[in-house]
Amino acid sequence: MSSDSQLPTPAHIQADSMLARRFGRETVNYFSSSPLNRLSFLRSDHAFLSAALKHPSTRFVLMKDLAPLTKTPAEPYYAKYDEVRKLVPDTIYDKSEEDIIKEYDSRKTTAAPIFLGLDETQKQDSLTWKIYTGTPYFALDVTPRGSEEQQINSKAVISEVEAKGLTFLQGRTIMSFPAGEGAIYAQARALIDWNTRNSFCGTCGHPTISVNSGTKRACPPSDAALLAQGKPAERPSCNTRTTISNLSFPRTDPTIIVAVVSTDAKRVLLGRAKRFPPNFYSTLAGFIEPAESVEDAVRREVWEEAGVTLSRVVIHSTQPWPYPANLMIGAIAQVSDPAHETINLEHDPELEDARWFDFAEVEEALKTGTSPLGSAPGAAYKEGALRLPPTTAIANQLIRAAIGMDFNPAENGPKM
Ligand SMILES: [Zn+2]
Repeated sequence: MSSDSQLPTPAHIQADSMLARRFGRETVNYFSSSPLNRLSFLRSDHAFLSAALKHPSTRFVLMKDLAPLTKTPAEPYYAKYDEVRKLVPDTIYDKSEEDIIKEYDSRKTTAAPIFLGLDETQKQDSLTWKIYTGTPYFALDVTPRGSEEQQINSKAVISEVEAKGLTFLQGRTIMSFPAGEGAIYAQARALIDWNTRNSFCGTCGHPTISVNSGTKRACPPSDAALLAQGKPAERPSCNTRTTISNLSFPRTDPTIIVAVVSTDAKRVLLGRAKRFPPNFYSTLAGFIEPAESVEDAVRREVWEEAGVTLSRVVIHSTQPWPYPANLMIGAIAQVSDPAHETINLEHDPELEDARWFDFAEVEEALKTGTSPLGSAPGAAYKEGALRLPPTTAIANQLIRAAIGMDFNPAENGPKM
């Protein structure tokens, strides 16, 4: 039903299987289905990382204050190693991770490249490591930070790329790249942001260092800088060094987002926040709380925000959302009794409005009224009509699925 060049098209979604026949085709959302093979088991292999870092095919996603370097708003720019060499010395992986932690000196800071993976579709002149061949991708934060030397080098890298006419693209949520590039950008943004926010240990409060190619952070047991102050190099003991959870891992915060269908399966419940433009509605969403199932979180959020009581909740598809580190778990849910459909916005005043929309009106809005929050809908849109999020938002896919779903399985066999 949907067609949009911005949606990923991984080969597996076309493949036939008994599971696909029983449950329908998998929905893949924007920011998912990255072309990169992450090869997570190579993140601590410094011989591999050293070869990948310097390989002529290698591409670097650069970000300054989380703004990605671009040629145009629809085209990211990938730097070569030569363009970041000032900030990332070619000796960076010469020592083992163990020795780097042992020799930690808080006065010496370095930019930490994050290995994102290999693009195995780009094999020409690419890197071969054991049985893996492809173009390596790294993310690199070029925001001036750390030691004075690191800041000077960061500024030099920034001014050199800007002198080429490239731009660090500003924006609250960037969703303008083609699908594959969008997924690479999402991974880079989430990891750079997490590293920036976790430069101090959550347990003992001392500085941490990036290890495992930017995907973990360690709390070193000693700091050579303390020796220089005439103190013992040992830092205070920290629980993160004594147990199996001796490292800090990137977090992903699960969020629910749901298209709610009425008892008669003829209307869908949508809401709007105050910041939305006029006539713009979307699906309801919220954070999953500790010790809560996805299904319970869906029922709680919809009751809290709209006063509507749900029965069955079905998980539909998911979307990584790197603003800053969410996983949107998309669901379709239904009310089982018309008495439970009454809208009440007074429990939690998060929504400015919530309303039941007929499928026909929603279908029309999907054709003519979709756009990102900050943009206008297309020329076919009639002023005053319902507006909805674009196909790159999971909300759009959920609404599409909800109104296109066959709610009469007794006649046609189950679809979900
Ligand atoms: Zn610590």
